[in-house]
Amino acid sequence: MRNEQKPVPSHSSLIPVATADLTERLDRLLPQTQCGQCGFDGCLPYAQAMACGEAGVDHCPPGGDDGARALARVLGVPPLPYDRARGTHKPAMVAVVVEADCIGCTKCIQACPVDAIIGGAKQMHVVIDPLCTGCELCVPACPVDCIVMEPG
Ligand code: SF4
Ligand code: SF4
Ligand code: SF4
Repeated sequence: MRNEQKPVPSHSSLIPVATADLTERLDRLLPQTQCGQCGFDGCLPYAQAMACGEAGVDHCPPGGDDGARALARVLGVPPLPYDRARGTHKPAMVAVVVEADCIGCTKCIQACPVDAIIGGAKQMHVVIDPLCTGCELCVPACPVDCIVMEPG
């Protein structure tokens, strides 16, 4: 008998529609900073993990206790405070490049998950305020400490 191999379905096609809908609802409640403090590569992967029962509702410091409560409500599970070990809930901030100190190394561009920084090699870089989510990932990436966070 011939041993026919069936094509392996892609991961996305394995996600049931109900789980995909739940993922979308959960994702809409997340702050979309894409900061990674939840331990996932961004808000959507975290929402997917919650929808699949693989992550708790307390992983997102930017969402704070209110965010964790809202996630728990959608999932129908008991509310939890957000996990303080993952980070601190803060007011909205935006990154600002101290222009005089920027050496144009482009490291901040590579670190920014939402392409909110523009500038070329050896040129001064700037943050596009409306795009900046305040994730702070560019701050440790700058070798000359010329990125500061300011109230958004
Ligand atoms: S910690 Fe919250 S805001 Fe940051 S990536 Fe995870 S879900 Fe998004
Ligand atoms: S500019 Fe910095 S703080 Fe703003 S989104 Fe990009 S990496 Fe995050
Ligand atoms: S990482 Fe710092 S020095 Fe390098 S381009 Fe960005 S702001 Fe300028």
